[in-house]
Order: sequence, then C-alpha cells, then structure tokens
Amino acid sequence: MIKKFLTTGIAVMLAAFLLAACGNTNDKENGSTENGTKKIQAIATFSIIHDIVTEVGGDYVDVHSMVPIGTDPHEYDPLPEDIKKATDADALFYNGLNLEGGEHGWFFKLVDNVQANKDHVFELMEGVEPLYLTSHDGTEKEVNPHAFLDPTVVIQMTENTRDALIQVDAENKEAYEKNAEQLLEKLHQLDEEYKSKIGEIPEENRILVTSERAYQYMTKRYGLEEGFIWEIDTEENGTPEQITSLVKFIKEKEVPVLFVETNVDARPMETVSNETGVPIAAKLFSDELGRPGDDGSTVIDFLQYNIDTIYAHLKQ
Ligand SMILES: [Zn+2]
Repeated sequence: MIKKFLTTGIAVMLAAFLLAACGNTNDKENGSTENGTKKIQAIATFSIIHDIVTEVGGDYVDVHSMVPIGTDPHEYDPLPEDIKKATDADALFYNGLNLEGGEHGWFFKLVDNVQANKDHVFELMEGVEPLYLTSHDGTEKEVNPHAFLDPTVVIQMTENTRDALIQVDAENKEAYEKNAEQLLEKLHQLDEEYKSKIGEIPEENRILVTSERAYQYMTKRYGLEEGFIWEIDTEENGTPEQITSLVKFIKEKEVPVLFVETNVDARPMETVSNETGVPIAAKLFSDELGRPGDDGSTVIDFLQYNIDTIYAHLKQ
C-alpha cells in the first residue's frame, strides 16, 4: 500500500516538474535499474544531514545535498538541479529548528514549488528541545538551529532518519536499523568522550569563545560557558558593539584562548584577539562538514575533531 501511494506521489510530482520544466524529457536517470529495484531518491538540505542520511540509507538510498560546503545553509537559493531532484524525490530531509529559514524560508518555498508530498518531508530535529537566542534587552528571540553540534542531538537525528526511511521503504527496514545502530554506537561513544574530556578541563578554563553562538546546545549539555561575537549568521556580523561586548567578557572571565569557525570570516575574531591579547587557538566546525578527504568530512569526524580541538587548547 505504501508502495502504491509512493508511485502515485512520484507520478504527481513528476507531472508537476514536467509542467514547470516545459516538457524537459530527461527523466531517465531516476528510473528503475535492470533488476527492477529502485534506490530511494532522497534530498538533504546541507552537508550534515547529507552524511546522516547517507550512513543510515546505505546501499538503498541516493542522497542529493543541496547547500554546498562553503555556502551558508541559513539562506540559500536552490539551483535548477536541486529543483529537479526535489521534484523526483521519495524523501526530503531538513534540519528544522529554523536553520533553513523556518516556515517561510528557502526550504519550505522549495517544498511548495515542487508540490512535494508533505508525508515525505522529514525534520531531523523533531523531538529536540529548542534553545533560544537572546536579544540585547535579554528577551528570548528566535530558535537557535545549531543543535547538531551536540552528539546527543545527532543521536536523535539518526533515529529520526532511520524511522523516516522505514516509513518510505519498509521493505529494507532491517538494513536501515542495522546501519543506524552502527552510527548510534559511535555517537554514544562520542557523548561519553565529550563528558570525560570536558570534565578534565580545569573549571576556570571551561569557556568556549567562538564567532557565532553556534555551540549553545553543546555547551549547555556538557557544562561549558559560551562567549560569542554575534548570535546568528543572519544578523550583522562583527559590529563594534558586538566586539566591545565580547572583549569585556573575555577580560572579566580571563578566557585563555579563542576559537573561530571554519565557515565564518575570521577578521572579527582577529580584532577581538588584537584587542585582548588572547590568541585564536584553532578552528572549529559549526555549520558544515569538512570537504571530502579533509578533517571533519563525516558527522562522526566533525564531532570528534571539535572535542579533540577544544580539549587540546582548554586543558592546559
Ligand atoms: Zn550558523
């Protein structure tokens, strides 16, 4: 029954695409293979989601990642290729928690444009308790989307991916469960490692200073204090007021080292470093994985790299 539903869904979506594409007939690449089996065609909004769906999907799922590494997932204009693949997709995966601009953001516009079956659109942050950014007057503002920097949240995202794939492709349930189990085991180990390594950092050094307030979930869970220049990439980055406020924080707390994320302009943090005399110790990953073949190119390596780097520079 699910299969019949799926086939109908695909036909409807394909028809919508053909209409939109004015009779483009190049739809063969998503057809069946010789033995009649068809891989599930999945869409992921950005690199972290792409890796989780790829790991859990294994041999049964092809995943297309939309936002390339080096591009901001908060704001994105889907390319014609993204629109075509989203039109043909059996499942669409997104972060949620306001990362892709929320209900009026770029991802939901795409979902509406391709008339995707809403039952096949999956938010990986479902079940995660949101944390909120604060405005200057101290009132709560928007949801902080960066929960994926906390290994326990990635556990939830992995379970959500597994359940979603089973929903769209029940025939391969066992494979999805097995793949998810392997990933979950590594994530549970990472959770233990975050606890023990942060526990070894002298208490007065347990302060993580970065450019964007991306580590709120992780620092709250494992007991680090957070310092940052700006709350979220979509606001102004590195205004004189933001710099002054962080400089004051660093002096008060006697912060030993600063970090800067791989995906942000390092100049505001360099200014902070010059004004405080506190060095930038290393880069950390935040909104995207490392490029294939580099450090942090899988979600496991990305989380491992961050804890190793934080531990190495805050422990002394
Ligand atoms: Zn961000």
